Amino acid sequence: MADKSWSVPLSDLVVSDDMRRAVDDAVGSGWWSMGPRVEEFEGAFSELLGSRHAFGVANGTAALHLALLAGGCGPGDEVIVPSLNFVAAANTIAHVGATPVFCDVKGNGDLNLDPDDVAAAITPATKAIVVLHYGGFACDMGAVLELAERHGLVVIEDAAHAPGSRYDGRMCGTLGAIGCFSFFSNKNLPVGEGGMVVTDDDDIADRVRLLRSHGMTTLTWDRHRGHASSYDVLVQGFNYRLDELRASMGLVQLRRLEQENAARRKIARQYGDALDGVNGVSMPFRERLGEGDSAHHLAVALVSDPETRDSIRLELAEHGVQTSLHYPPIHCFTAYRDTGGRRLPRTEDAASRLITLPLFAHMRPDQVTTVIDAVIAAM
Ligand SMILES: *Cc1c(COP(=O)(O)O)cnc(C)c1O
Repeated sequence: MADKSWSVPLSDLVVSDDMRRAVDDAVGSGWWSMGPRVEEFEGAFSELLGSRHAFGVANGTAALHLALLAGGCGPGDEVIVPSLNFVAAANTIAHVGATPVFCDVKGNGDLNLDPDDVAAAITPATKAIVVLHYGGFACDMGAVLELAERHGLVVIEDAAHAPGSRYDGRMCGTLGAIGCFSFFSNKNLPVGEGGMVVTDDDDIADRVRLLRSHGMTTLTWDRHRGHASSYDVLVQGFNYRLDELRASMGLVQLRRLEQENAARRKIARQYGDALDGVNGVSMPFRERLGEGDSAHHLAVALVSDPETRDSIRLELAEHGVQTSLHYPPIHCFTAYRDTGGRRLPRTEDAASRLITLPLFAHMRPDQVTTVIDAVIAAM
């Protein structure tokens, strides 16, 4: 649970008896590393998404790293990624030896990537696009997939915000070649640290399976069960496995996901109705707030004057309302300053004006009102 000094924390966890029981059962099973609960979690996640394969991994960053490697990205390749994003995608692109090429967002009404700017960023060296479904709102996958098809690019979905989100009736994470999810504590499906890679492609699945576990042909779990006695190593892999305790938590969270996303949706709509257009505030994705296709991971408001943003955040903090920024653009960080001459004016404008408001499924009505009143008073 969050720091009690906030009357409305940015996010919050549910500590329930069924969660305690699930973890207790996993502990009592006597097998703590990857085993039957991970398999069950993968199966349930696959089923939810309608994907052929799902691989539980250590975290969402590991999922992205595996996706890039399994997608064939390496030295000399360029990978297009939105700059208004968490830094993990850019870091992992760099870790495989490729170069992240940043693309701009559509604008203040839509903080997802702009397909026209993706098209402008494509060069003969472009190998892949790592898309983000910002805040749970699916990006323009139709346009992305068309570009990818035309230029022979691999599409990797960073679906860290989007478990349960849909695009055109299909689940986010299953639209591109590979989907990556995070189960970090503040995400929609929290287990502490964890992630998932999903794909329908059998060859990609084989590579992910190998790379997740040192490139070894058999798992400790298989050897424990007497299914194998030795192993070969086919590629230089990693230990990116998920464990039984986290998987047991994931299974509990998965059962709640749909209901919790619906609760987030309702609050997002209340924010939109109460705040959009008030005292110069605008709400990105305004017409999609409260829509069933988004997992509503984030509630973001834009202030009219960037000069006032930080003082407004301080004033909200004085009212006990915790806020955040999603995100400082990646190309503004020291490690990523060299954009190769690309300009990202809409990313910079939105990032200078945005404030992330509290949003979690079990927010009480009085907490929602506290946030709305505090925002209106602070503007
Ligand atoms: C959380 C997050 C990640 C990284 O996930 P971890 O599980 O923390 O490694 C990657 N991309 C986005 C967009 C995220 O929000």
